[in-house]
Amino acid sequence: MQAPVAPNRAARRAASRDVANNPVSRRRAQVKARRWLWRESALHRVQSCGRVPAGQSVDLGIREEGRAGWSGLVTCGSVHSCPVCSERIWAERAEELRKLLMAAHAEGYSVSMVTFTVRHTAGDALGPQLDALNDAWAVAQASSAVKGAKLGLGFVGMVRRLEITDGAHGWHPHLHALVIHAPGDPGLLGQVMHRAFCSRLKRHNVESWATNGGLDVRQLTLDESLEEIAGYATKGAYGDETASPVDEARRAAYEVAGGRSKLGRRSSRSHWQNLDSAAAGDRRAAARVHEYERATKGRRALTWTNGLRERFAIAEERSDEEIAADTDHGLDAVATFLPADWAVIRRDETAAVDLLEVVEGATPALRFEAVAAYLRARDLDATAYRPGDQPLPTPKEPPDDLGA
Ligand SMILES: [Zn+2]
Repeated sequence: MQAPVAPNRAARRAASRDVANNPVSRRRAQVKARRWLWRESALHRVQSCGRVPAGQSVDLGIREEGRAGWSGLVTCGSVHSCPVCSERIWAERAEELRKLLMAAHAEGYSVSMVTFTVRHTAGDALGPQLDALNDAWAVAQASSAVKGAKLGLGFVGMVRRLEITDGAHGWHPHLHALVIHAPGDPGLLGQVMHRAFCSRLKRHNVESWATNGGLDVRQLTLDESLEEIAGYATKGAYGDETASPVDEARRAAYEVAGGRSKLGRRSSRSHWQNLDSAAAGDRRAAARVHEYERATKGRRALTWTNGLRERFAIAEERSDEEIAADTDHGLDAVATFLPADWAVIRRDETAAVDLLEVVEGATPALRFEAVAAYLRARDLDATAYRPGDQPLPTPKEPPDDLGA
């Protein structure tokens, strides 16, 4: 029987469910987390993301689907650390994977998911675990046993994803690979890959285990595989990954199917949950965020095997930085700010995100007026210009201070 949930914990859970399901409160939480990173992140790009102007003006605009956004600001492109960039990156990656799965399915291929986990304890540092995982994976793939098993199955290619959760037993990094192969049982390939993986892991004094969660191989229906990658866009990106009703339904479905729940136990936390706690003043969570930042910096979140994109005519891959920097794509500018005026807006705790809601809520013809009215009502000393009407930049740039 489940232990009764303390009222404050239940309230917190309800609150995080609200954040996960409501795009407006989710965006506010995202922006709040990024403001904390401006001050606290050790990564220079993350400190500047969405804060420092990239050029001579900063635009506020709206896209066809009715969502407002800012452009003309530096973006960090950190898929692991940034609550804002990660969302944009995962959305594109998930869409590419969807195309891959549809194309593979149309040609009659099967899709399986192979998951490798390593044994870990609460004191283990994350960086060395990730080094071990990556090295063991690469060496396993190059082994003749694995190459032979791939040939035997009719292996076409795979996409590997790194996922890291944090819990009572410390960091929990694992690798998921979506394997495209000829119809057939993927079990043997999974076992051969895992054996080669484990034998290399020993060099790093890290262990995995063949039963009880070290290896999981599952053939997916098209619907299951599409659901899996749709989860990348929401779980990989900022948000609560345990509380949404969709995730709860998935957990129940997997448990009924006898599979291992992919969602981790209740006690397992995502980086984004640690980040939210850190932004709310939790020092322990802040230390976890800093370790995660250092350990994941420069690592790929998603890796395609060579030739797989070409084989299914998926367009050339854009880098994380390119995707994140593409903020003016489809953005219809409503108002333009000079860097000094933008500095006034971003120093205010909520003005930048308030203005997004102002633009989204205004009648299209009166959006600019609504922006100007908001600035007046808040008594913010910032001038909004109609796009193209802004004066030429002054030669002297404002200081790049954080202006607490
Ligand atoms: Zn960013």
